[in-house]
Amino acid sequence: MPENIKKLLEIEYGLSGDISRLAGENENFLIRTKNNTSFVLKLACDQTIPGIPEIEHLAVECLFKAGLGISLPRVIPARSGSMEACLLTEDHKQIRGRLLEFVKGKAWRQSPPASIEQLETLGRLIARMDMAMSGIVHAGSRRTHPWDLTQAARHRPEISFIQDLEKRRILEWAFHLYTAIALPLLDRLPRSLIHGDLNDDNILVDNSRVCGILDFGDCLENPVVCDLAIALAYHTLDEEDPLEAAAIIIGAFHQVRPLSADEMNVIFPLMCARLAVSVIISAKRRKIDPLRESWFVSEQRAWQKLDAFSAIGPAQAAILLAGRTNLKPYENRGASAMELLKKRRKLIAPSISPSYEKPLKFLHGKGQYLFDYNGRPFLDLYNNVCHVGHCHPKVVEAGQKQMAKLNTNTRYLYDGLTEYAERLCDTLPRELDTCFFVNSGTEANELALRIARTCTGQKDMLVVDNAYHGHTTSMIDISPYKFMGKGGKGEAEPWVHVVPAADGYRGRFKGQGKDAGKAYGDEIESIIDVLSTPVAGFITESLLSCGGQVIPPEGYLETAFRHVRNAGGLCITDEVQTGFGRTGACFWAFKLQDVVPDLVVMGKPMGNGHPMGAVITRKEIADIFANGMEFFSTFGGNPVSCAIGLAVLNVIKEEELQKNAKLIGKRMMEGLYTLKGKHDLIGDVRGLGLFMGIELVNNRKTLDPAARKAHELVNLLKSQGILVGTDGPFNNVIKIKPPMVITQEDSDMFIRVLDDCLTDMENSE
Ligand code: PMP
Repeated sequence: MPENIKKLLEIEYGLSGDISRLAGENENFLIRTKNNTSFVLKLACDQTIPGIPEIEHLAVECLFKAGLGISLPRVIPARSGSMEACLLTEDHKQIRGRLLEFVKGKAWRQSPPASIEQLETLGRLIARMDMAMSGIVHAGSRRTHPWDLTQAARHRPEISFIQDLEKRRILEWAFHLYTAIALPLLDRLPRSLIHGDLNDDNILVDNSRVCGILDFGDCLENPVVCDLAIALAYHTLDEEDPLEAAAIIIGAFHQVRPLSADEMNVIFPLMCARLAVSVIISAKRRKIDPLRESWFVSEQRAWQKLDAFSAIGPAQAAILLAGRTNLKPYENRGASAMELLKKRRKLIAPSISPSYEKPLKFLHGKGQYLFDYNGRPFLDLYNNVCHVGHCHPKVVEAGQKQMAKLNTNTRYLYDGLTEYAERLCDTLPRELDTCFFVNSGTEANELALRIARTCTGQKDMLVVDNAYHGHTTSMIDISPYKFMGKGGKGEAEPWVHVVPAADGYRGRFKGQGKDAGKAYGDEIESIIDVLSTPVAGFITESLLSCGGQVIPPEGYLETAFRHVRNAGGLCITDEVQTGFGRTGACFWAFKLQDVVPDLVVMGKPMGNGHPMGAVITRKEIADIFANGMEFFSTFGGNPVSCAIGLAVLNVIKEEELQKNAKLIGKRMMEGLYTLKGKHDLIGDVRGLGLFMGIELVNNRKTLDPAARKAHELVNLLKSQGILVGTDGPFNNVIKIKPPMVITQEDSDMFIRVLDDCLTDMENSE
């Protein structure tokens, strides 16, 4: 090779001298001529993408013209005048290369600790560079490469290359921040051609003066702030107080090229993501060539910084980083969680307990993420209210617009009510055609109970063991979850008859496959047979939520409904948790069992957080109910609620969320099955679409419920930024019912982190 290089230099450039290979990733050679002039020859390799050298050249020339007062690796044309020289070797190989001016100076990494002035110079320089390069337009700059910060999430699955649990935790944290905070904003930020790799080897320093910039090989079109974030990630690696040093660089940048609030907010997540990508690429490279030192110069320092950063909340980081600008991130966060908790204890009834050992205060929500007081994102895997994602802009807009226009009640006429009712009925079997609108699931169940009683002239109800249907007096009476639970009466009212849950894991007919559904259904017949009074109806969820995320076996509802109807009762399905496409397979979960209930109750996701509930039934039932007593709910079905409900239905359709539930649910279930094979604590995993349960047991034979461990796991997952809860009669089932917008990446992250948490728990046993 050196012989060929020698030849190329002589023929194409008329140069001769010492040739030595330069450290670094590429095939770069230092040429030192006899009269002590230096050049760099950059050889093209197979990976050199056509057009990229041209963009590099444009960038360097543009910066040269901008008069930044620094040296740049300008291209020296070959004798032929072309930017690239070419040599055909004797063995018929083609060598192509570009000769560049040698940029003098010492790498920032190898120079003495940076002074404030040096940091400021760097900040101003990056700003001026990016401003100058914003004028370059070249189609080829719209490219990507493994270091492209807008595509950092591509490296997320590679976290599993890292063996150490603690290091994996740090990487999960970094990618979570990046995905939840930076990614949604990146698309909206100003873009231009950027250098793309302003690391501490590519910035040269001479006597505390930034004197040169190297290596434009990674330049690409990107949000401008990425260039700054990359520089910050590397240039603070050796700083004792990296965020203070970064704040100095940012302050100087901001003076030349003001940052927006969004740009400010993404800097910390981007810095962390860059370091995370760097350590992952290092880990991968170690397998290829562990002795190539230049590949690992940042590795240890990057781990140290990531470790330190992971103890800092994004809010605190953003506040520190913006310290020398006029931006005020995270202003008006209100009281801290601790302060609020104290106040709450004074003012709010003690029977409402906040979730988690250390309760959370959220500042805002977006999609599947909630952000706490420290700006930390949490993947919300069990809020089935914010069905189409927290604060969905279309739902918010629909509510705001209608609220500003008109809000009345159902005694007046408005398009929204009938339009919404029509759209809801379109999702149901044809016979369910008449709507009642209320404000919550409880209210809807109350009304369904009243309708069943009025229409049958009976009082008694059949209810499923461990079920929950609402918080009012009569709903508590038909909720074994409550009256048999803590503080409950411990027995059913005489008019309430509890039927066993059709539980395929613990129930009486477990393991009986196809026959189990009928067998559980027939149990209802035997209960009815011994009753002294006829029943008004039977209420059940289509899938049992509080009962422990139970999927009743096939044929259960059909058999149950037949017996109830034979006894003169009406069948109510409570779809408060299971409706609106959550199961992926059907819009309403009762359809899974091929039945049509007499009354369908809906709530939670209906208004995506806006309080709404409804009962939908057959016209003939509604007619009998209309016995002269008026039904009126002041707020139920008001124009604002209808506009919001309609927007929710539209978003489910437009964003194909039912399909997403099916797809992601399947992927997550596969992941959970794998974990069940690995961790004995998991007794059962079950679910459909985005309605899933993981039942934890201390012993797979006795099924001894592992409630304490479930509690521990929920709090561990929370400490890793994932929100789930427990449910079931023994509180040992991890419930998963996330907003329907969760992605494949969220699901994969959950499975990885859950795996690590379970391993962690096993290790500490
Ligand atoms: N039914 C079911 C199945 C529920 O899960 C709930 C709430 N958890 C309700 C009814 C009551 O709904 P709300 O709290 O909106 O009154």
